[in-house]
Amino acid sequence: MEQLAETKLANTEITGLLGDPVEHSLSPVMHNRAFQELGLNNLYLPWAVKEDKLAQAVAGIRGLDIKGANLTIPHKQQVLPHLDELSEEARLIGAVNTIENQAGKLIGHNTDGRGYLRSLQEEADFNPAAKKVLVVGAGGAARAVAFQLALAGVSELYIANRTVKKAKALIEEINKQLEVTGKAISLSKERLAEKMERLDLVVDTTPVGMYPQTEVEPVIPADLLHSDLLVSDLVYNPQETVLLQVAKKKGAATLSGLGMLLYQGVIAFEIWTGKKAPVKVMREALEKGLKRNT
Ligand code: NAP
Repeated sequence: MEQLAETKLANTEITGLLGDPVEHSLSPVMHNRAFQELGLNNLYLPWAVKEDKLAQAVAGIRGLDIKGANLTIPHKQQVLPHLDELSEEARLIGAVNTIENQAGKLIGHNTDGRGYLRSLQEEADFNPAAKKVLVVGAGGAARAVAFQLALAGVSELYIANRTVKKAKALIEEINKQLEVTGKAISLSKERLAEKMERLDLVVDTTPVGMYPQTEVEPVIPADLLHSDLLVSDLVYNPQETVLLQVAKKKGAATLSGLGMLLYQGVIAFEIWTGKKAPVKVMREALEKGLKRNT
């Protein structure tokens, strides 16, 4: 029996998360629950890695033949020069959240944007092709979502940000790389009002409304929202942010950030295992973990 356990351990496929901090990440519970559900001899560990230790950590993935890893703050951009290949999304977005170790070749993927698209399709039955879209925010999450929406063929893409020059820089990059003609706008009510009437989808990528500061003014004024919109908030704690509450009251469809978190993990799982991920148990693990964290 003991011998059997040791043989099993020797064959365990290791995956994990490189970041700093990693203690509150829900990825370990989500992936370990999925491995268990499919009866796989795999394990997912959280690894706290300081910025100056990233190169050594990635060398460790090679040296120990670790199956794959996720990356979070502060490593998503810094990891690029340590990898052998990048997926198209990772190259465009300029950030990697998933490493695949393909027989010693480290391939960088970005499953954040793809995860977002999959949550749009699976949870809101929304296909962004030929749709008019506004992304609010111009940080890391906005970058992944905006590039992915542009790749998916939206007809109009606007990025509104508190610091307008960051929105301009992002939209210029997207326009150049993908030959889309998106526009940057300021976050003022007047500028938002000009666009809002015609939009199909609004994505809030700012942390406004995130636990514990849940009782705040939403980043988009309530009176601009309308019933033809899908309003999507990347914040997943709480699942129903103040923005989604007011959007619902206005008759708009809503989408929580939990779906993006779930599907970025689902896609990473499928890259590492080559198997269809058990989405339902992964979602339950996330929801349980969120309850514990609040
Ligand atoms: P980030 O790189 O720091 O960017 C934050 C963005 O929000 C910036 O554009 C910033 O504007 C804007 N912002 C911050 N506070 C604001 C405020 N009070 N009013 C208006 N704009 C404000 O952060 P990030 O990595 O993109 O993450 C943003 C949010 O997305 C976080 O809540 C994170 O949890 C969530 N997220 C969710 C998922 C998911 O899977 N659901 C994945 C990634 C991120 P300035 O440029 O003017 O500073």
